[in-house]
Amino acid sequence: MRILLISDIHANFTALEAVLAAAGSYDALWCLGDTIGYGPEPNECATAMFGRADIAISGNHDLACIGELDLDDFNPDARAANIWNREQLKPEYVDWLKGLSPMQRIDDRFTIAHASPREPVWEYLMSPEQALSNAPFFDTQVCLIGHSHVQLGFRLTSNGRCERFLSSDLSLVDLNTDDRFFLNPGSVGQPRDYDSRAAYAFLDTDAGTVRFHRVEYDIGKTQQKMYAANLPIALIRRLEFGM
Ligand code: ZN
Repeated sequence: MRILLISDIHANFTALEAVLAAAGSYDALWCLGDTIGYGPEPNECATAMFGRADIAISGNHDLACIGELDLDDFNPDARAANIWNREQLKPEYVDWLKGLSPMQRIDDRFTIAHASPREPVWEYLMSPEQALSNAPFFDTQVCLIGHSHVQLGFRLTSNGRCERFLSSDLSLVDLNTDDRFFLNPGSVGQPRDYDSRAAYAFLDTDAGTVRFHRVEYDIGKTQQKMYAANLPIALIRRLEFGM
């Protein structure tokens, strides 16, 4: 099965459309959370994931939008955008998000967690030390994560070592090994790894590989919609820098 992995769309429908167009056909789609928040089109993104995602989990912004997480934990810009997203979101998508959890064990090989298996809602899993200390919190070979908006991976070897690798476009991870992995496909709608292109990945369960991808999208189009919605200026500008 070829599974399209996407995360942190953040209501950026223009970026999501570009990813779906570039990805082409797939056998399944797994959504790693934060479908809404920050961006200008929460309903369009929720519609797309509600209709397309075979498996979806919730992220911290999703949970805040449906009132299950305190907005005091967000910085002012994120909070303002989250409140605006909440005001737009149709009741059917509130119900959909309420039915999702932030972590799910999929089968004997794969777990998905929005942030980390230890703290599925909040932890930014960025360092090898964090990856090692998170290893006991899932029991599959691979844990797919989002939340940091950085396209990266960690390889955990049987002798207790951990190697962190940042992906470049089209880089490939071979899972046919005894090693365990954390893999983050990056963010569709608000990349933070100094590459403004939308990020996603493909998992091929037959070949045992994950390939990372980037695709350009019309950032100006998303920014215009954000200006029209009076969303915070810093959130608008950061898109063009990928940070
Ligand atoms: Zn996010």
